[in-house]
Amino acid sequence: MNVRNCVKCGKIFNYITGVPMCPACKSDLEDQFQVTKKYIRDNPHANIAQVAEECDVSIKLIHQWVREERLIFAEGSAIGIECELCGKTIRTGRFCEQCKHDIQHNLDGAYDKKSAIQKLKDDKVKNKMRYLNKDNMR
Ligand SMILES: [Zn+2]
Ligand SMILES: [Zn+2]
Repeated sequence: MNVRNCVKCGKIFNYITGVPMCPACKSDLEDQFQVTKKYIRDNPHANIAQVAEECDVSIKLIHQWVREERLIFAEGSAIGIECELCGKTIRTGRFCEQCKHDIQHNLDGAYDKKSAIQKLKDDKVKNKMRYLNKDNMR
């Protein structure tokens, strides 16, 4: 039996998989998620701080849900999060369309996806700096 402490309330429970959280906290979290989702749907122009306050959830948690593509912000909504690679504002997930494309392109056959993404990220940062330097020389 795999027994763990719940990350939220500290209670001991039978750990199965995923986030080490007891069933009670998990269902609390699910309730919060539903509330947040509804609030975003009803208030498409609320910003992330507003959502966090109104729904009593942390901004970090909202970000996490967006990264997991569980929450999607409406087009034109005040809320967006940054693409993990290039920093462009996106509505859901981890990467913008362009970066998703780049990743797919670069990761075909890559066997360590994590470091391949890191490399892509480094390349993008380097590219950005190169552009900046070019501008400075003009
Ligand atoms: Zn708990
Ligand atoms: Zn991007």
